[in-house]
Amino acid sequence: MFIGIVGLGGKKTPVIDIFTHDLIEEIRVRFSGKNSPLQEWLKSLRNIPAEERKNAGALINELKNEIESCLKHFIESWRNEAEIKKLSQENEDISLPLPNINIGSRHPVMTVMRDLLEPFQRMGFSIVDGPEIDNDFYNFDTLNVLKDHPAREMQDTFFLASEWVLRTHTSNVQSHAMMERKLPLKIVCPGCVYRNEYDMTHLPSFRQIECLIVDKGIHLGHLRHTINEMLNAAFGRPVKLRFRSSYFPFTEPSAEVDVECQQCFGKGCRSCKHTGWSEIGGCGLVNRKVLESCGIDSNVYSGIALGFGIDRMAKDRFAIADLRSMLDGDVSFLKSFALS
Ligand SMILES: [Zn+2]
Repeated sequence: MFIGIVGLGGKKTPVIDIFTHDLIEEIRVRFSGKNSPLQEWLKSLRNIPAEERKNAGALINELKNEIESCLKHFIESWRNEAEIKKLSQENEDISLPLPNINIGSRHPVMTVMRDLLEPFQRMGFSIVDGPEIDNDFYNFDTLNVLKDHPAREMQDTFFLASEWVLRTHTSNVQSHAMMERKLPLKIVCPGCVYRNEYDMTHLPSFRQIECLIVDKGIHLGHLRHTINEMLNAAFGRPVKLRFRSSYFPFTEPSAEVDVECQQCFGKGCRSCKHTGWSEIGGCGLVNRKVLESCGIDSNVYSGIALGFGIDRMAKDRFAIADLRSMLDGDVSFLKSFALS
């Protein structure tokens, strides 16, 4: 009977039209399962004379192999036909061209941020996040920004209820880290910050990246090296830098960092206000007062800190004339960075 069924599958009648999955399983159990005649015969071998047992055993094993081979072939045929039938019932025309898919592009600011983080990860920095709404204690007090400092005025800072502010820099993450983490510290903090200003070179909401190292024996050489590594990665090529002595409450000594204008390459243009340079951030040794206000012994530890505007770097790297384009959401503008 079984051979007849297999024969039926091998002829012109498609097995898929006759057999269901359940029926196939029933056939398998019937002819090779634990209660099949084959198993009964094997069990009954012990009842026949020893001199006939060897021959009988060989015949039964031969039949067993034949049945299992036929079953395997039959089940494979059934599966193949089932697959072909399923595919033939699908109506998709795979030869049709794909619709025009707009996959978008990475925002220039995010491109620069991604490139900026790469050298920090390579140099073993931890990437640390922090609150965008924070207490002015972390945003100002611990950073030596005194109560009468102009940065605290309404025209620079978005004040919320009571002592809460939209953070004006990512330095608040440094305050949290110095007060809450164990030394030594080697962190980088990218994130969104807020200032009450809006013109060709200033945005009310932009991204900053800050780096902080606090350890024994940290000096300006570490700062210079870190900035070089970071900016070469951000611009994708070596860029010309200059350090200008400056003042920030949280660093001493402090410097502002300028990069050569990437639109006029030092000749002077509207974008760089005809200076040939573009200011991209500040840096310095962490002020001893800041270390002490965060509970760190400044006689034992020293630190470097830097904070750069990522939007400015993107503006310079991609020669974008007006910083406000970053927030416009103009698709044609963003599409021009599709390969960035
Ligand atoms: Zn220029």
